[in-house]
Amino acid sequence: MGTYVLTGSASGIGAATKARLEADGHRVIGVDIRDADVIADLRTPQGRAQAVAAVTELAGDSLDGFVPFAGLAPAAGRPSADIIELNYFGAVDLLEGLRPLLAAGDGASVVLISSNSTTTSPGWPVEAAEACLAGDGRKAAEITSEFGDLASVHAYPVSKAAVAWYARTKSAEYIRDGIRLNAVAPGIIETPMTVVGREDPLVGEAMKGFVGAVPAGRGGRPEEVAAMVAFLLGPESTYVVGSVLFVDGGIDAAFRGKDWPAVWQVG
Ligand code: NAD
Repeated sequence: MGTYVLTGSASGIGAATKARLEADGHRVIGVDIRDADVIADLRTPQGRAQAVAAVTELAGDSLDGFVPFAGLAPAAGRPSADIIELNYFGAVDLLEGLRPLLAAGDGASVVLISSNSTTTSPGWPVEAAEACLAGDGRKAAEITSEFGDLASVHAYPVSKAAVAWYARTKSAEYIRDGIRLNAVAPGIIETPMTVVGREDPLVGEAMKGFVGAVPAGRGGRPEEVAAMVAFLLGPESTYVVGSVLFVDGGIDAAFRGKDWPAVWQVG
């Protein structure tokens, strides 16, 4: 049985995945700002360093997997920096800090949590996601802040696209250490995040309309995402590397059916 680290383990999809992995007999080390084995504010470099140190202390010699669920949605008045720092750097900095323990595992697996907001939100600034990949959170926050009241609405798909790009572009490097790196892009999932979001003056009405557009006719259950994550962590997915898998009731396909594959233009 394996030892897995989950951030955002106190709520929603993270809590459902923790329950699923524990029911399957695995050990889970939870990291969250509350109600977890390791308490840390993953919006800050200090909190992230503290979390890596505490997990390293608890883990022993190796880890079998890592899934950073901790995240913040767009909301009225929420600074875009909070979203960039938690959703992107809270995932990637922890991954890089835990990489030696994952490399010491026997075929460790990492699942980054993207979102179908990447493909269904219009007009997010690509250069902000590029800034994340370059390690420049301040620049990403500045670019998204220029959208004023809509800063968090753009920062969210920026952070989630950057996470997906990280998984895609770094997977070849990670697999050389025996670590599989993939991402899951959930659609609208019924968790505390979406309950709060529906009441938000900035995004509430859009969220309600979005559920109405889901081909499956409903929001997803956290357990439906946990099942995909458990598959990607487990022994049945050993040849899945660098993929972004959508768990969204069909909405990405409905919005952007022919955007993939894009033709590879050589020369
Ligand atoms: P949730 O709000 O239920 O859980 C988020 C967790 O993150 C909570 O346990 C919270 O305490 C923790 N957290 C918040 N701020 C933190 C901080 N500063 N430091 C450490 N932990 C912190 O949300 P959820 O719906 O379960 O979302 C989980 C992940 O899935 C997020 O990354 C989210 O962006 C992503 N996602 C969710 C949906 C959805 O519809 N629910 C869709 C696509 C992607």
